[in-house]
Amino acid sequence: MSDTIERVKCLIIGSGPAGYTAAIYAARANMNPVLYQGTQPGGQLTTTNEVENFPGYPDGVTGPEMMMQLQAQAQRFDADVRDGWITKVDFSGSIHKVWVNDTKEIQCDTVIISTGASAKYLGLDSEQKYLKLGGGVSACAVCDGFFYRNQEVVIVGAGDSACEEAHYLSKLCKKVTMIVRRDVFRASKIMAARVKNTENIEILFNTETDEVLGDGQVVTGVRVFNNKTGEKHEIPVTGFFVAIGHKPNTDIFKGFLDLDETGYIINTPGTSKTNIEGVFVSGDAADHVYRQAVTAAGTGCMAALDAERYLAAKDSTFEVSTSTYN
Ligand code: NDP
Repeated sequence: MSDTIERVKCLIIGSGPAGYTAAIYAARANMNPVLYQGTQPGGQLTTTNEVENFPGYPDGVTGPEMMMQLQAQAQRFDADVRDGWITKVDFSGSIHKVWVNDTKEIQCDTVIISTGASAKYLGLDSEQKYLKLGGGVSACAVCDGFFYRNQEVVIVGAGDSACEEAHYLSKLCKKVTMIVRRDVFRASKIMAARVKNTENIEILFNTETDEVLGDGQVVTGVRVFNNKTGEKHEIPVTGFFVAIGHKPNTDIFKGFLDLDETGYIINTPGTSKTNIEGVFVSGDAADHVYRQAVTAAGTGCMAALDAERYLAAKDSTFEVSTSTYN
């Protein structure tokens, strides 16, 4: 075996709540997990300001702080947390191989994929500016809607997510304006009907975002244009929500794992198992429905337990720890 090849019992890819929870459970089960953080250590939550819906934080916590605490908790049990980006995998043999930064090869008995998904944004400079400032741009109404109580907001998108999030926001906000680029919804009829029948949701069809407006710190409005007439107008709002879909970070697994048409990894229902033995998935890489930090953490736990049971079944010298079930 070359010097550059390392063998690990449990390799975890990704460092959001799913990956760190898997690391905590795997470390406590003597699986000596190695976790690669990827290019955005801490995952999507590090782009969120305040997290108020993760149980156990009665006063809320910032996304980056929670991720540091999860990392510290995993390291307390000797999880090996490393910088690095997994660039390639080969799940075709009995030993699963992954490559770090295109150079270092690791051979793994089990792999837990926690690579998450990335929200799509429009890509306007003004949108990205206020997103980075934490000043009123969000791609998660459930996470951030609460901060816009009794205020007026805009949401872009016309799929099921946009409708669901617009409806969620309508219960908190004074008014929600939906910006729909075509003259129809993509969402299912029932979801579209729900927003159409909600009094404080206004829908602007054939409308696109020209610019997110702000005072340099926070969003103060949005300028939109009608793509049929070219007519522009400004809407004063404090929140700019984007719900135009997510992209699961699963490109490197194509050809090995079963993915759905969007790229989400298909798992055996009720488990974290993929179509490849010894490869497990947790968090948003397989979840286009719930996409919450707490559900990601829950599936991270499932993946570690499934991996532990898989190892125990394969290797009679590896004992399933009792501590994980306490
Ligand atoms: P979708 O891909 O279904 O919809 C994305 C929406 O965003 C489309 O309306 C699209 O417009 C719009 N959009 C994309 N790019 C832009 C852009 N640059 N500017 C303006 N608008 C844009 O994503 P969802 O996240 O809504 O849903 C993903 C999957 O999850 C779907 O299968 C959905 O059914 C499912 N889902 C189910 C739910 C449920 O059943 N409760 C809840 C949420 C999601 P256009 O239509 O013009 O292409």
